[in-house]
Parts: sequence; structure tokens; C-alpha cells
Amino acid sequence: MVGEQLHKIKQLLPPEVSLVAVSKFHPVERLMEAYDAGQRIFAESRPQELAAKVPSMPADVQWHFIGHLQTNKLKLVLPHVSLVQSVDSLHLLEAINAWGAANNKVIDVLLELHLGAEETKQGFTEDEILSILCSHGRLQVSEGTPSPLSSIRLRGLMGMATNTEDEAVIDADFARIEKLFRSIQLPGFDILSIGMSQDWPIAVRHGATMVRIGTDIFGAREY
Ligand SMILES: *Cc1c(COP(=O)(O)O)cnc(C)c1O
Repeated sequence: MVGEQLHKIKQLLPPEVSLVAVSKFHPVERLMEAYDAGQRIFAESRPQELAAKVPSMPADVQWHFIGHLQTNKLKLVLPHVSLVQSVDSLHLLEAINAWGAANNKVIDVLLELHLGAEETKQGFTEDEILSILCSHGRLQVSEGTPSPLSSIRLRGLMGMATNTEDEAVIDADFARIEKLFRSIQLPGFDILSIGMSQDWPIAVRHGATMVRIGTDIFGAREY
């Protein structure tokens, strides 16, 4: 089942768009079905769950973190992940950088833009993102330049559209993040992570380079 679902999505997804399998709340057996069907990038949203799954999966899996990350949980997450997609505060960005410096690791991150109507959603405003990029971004992505955040690489933007059936609303949300992404011309800042099971075709029309799909691959989550 999982293999068939993956196959269906891959047939529709442009080949240059990376597919991230969002495996939160699903058991390792399901993840292995996806792995056996060729999937290598998996994303989790809870630190403990990520840390528990990593040793049970093959070593060539690339793990992404997509949930709200508290700075006291960094050690559960950062040793394992190739990308933190959900950086939503300057405090977190600085803590990740400090962890990277202490552990001799450079961590790739995406900045999360607050999209959508939900007040509960995390993320920066456009102005906050531009200000981070002005103070840190140019130095980060050019190699060898000393900078205050030398253990972080700012790789792009992540966003979640409003949770609605109304395609016009989703379209407007993705248009906003697309516009911001296109306005940022920095070498190495090349990932636009938008689109989930409900809305990824719209995200692809807005230039997504990465989509994060859970339900369409693994089925409904049991909480
Ligand atoms: C859970 C989650 C997804 C996947 O959602 P589906 O609707 O199951 O595809 C994508 N992105 C983030 C940030 C998530 O938390």
C-alpha cells in the first residue's frame, strides 16, 4: 500500500521536486515499506519520536525535523538530521548555531514563514526573515567567511498554508511565500518547502522545490 501510494505521488510530482515522507505517528514497519519502495527522506515532528526511530532505520535515511523545536531538545534532534525545516525564532536559530559550534557540525536550516489564518501557527514574518538574512544570511552562505552564525547554513523557506478547502486561500498563502523566496537572491538559499497531502499540487505551481507528504503516503495518523 505505502509503496503504491509513493509510486502514484512520484508519477505526478515533477522530478526536480524533493519528496519528504512525513512519518510522524507511524510505526517503523510503515516507514520500512516506504524505504523498500525507494524513499530516503523522512520527516518527524517530535524529538523523542525521531530519536527513537533513527536507530531502527537504515543508516542511509536522511531525516528532517519539521515540528516545533524547544532548545532543551536540541540534543535529541540535531545529531540525526540533515535539515531542520521549522526554525521559527531567532532564539532557536542562535541555540542551533551554538550546538553546532560546540559539536563541530554545520546545520542546514529553513526559516519558517508564518502563513495562514491560524494564530497558533509558528513562524516569522517576512520582515523578520529579511532582517535575519541581512544580518546573517550573506555571510552564512559564502564559504569561509567568519560570521556570528557560522555553524548554520540558511538553505531556504518553509511554510504551511491555511488549513482550508478553499483553494483561493491556499493559493494566496503560497503566492506570499513564493514572492518572498524569489526576492531572496543568495547562493545556497535554494529550498522552498511548501505543500502537504491536501495542497501539494498548488504548492508545485508556486515553485515548491520540496513537498512534505504524510497522509497521502502512510494513511491517516492515529493520535
Ligand atoms: C504533519 C505535517 C505534514 C504532513 O501533513 P499531511 O497532511 O499528513 O501530508 C507536513 N508538514 C508539517 C510541518 C507537518 O507537521
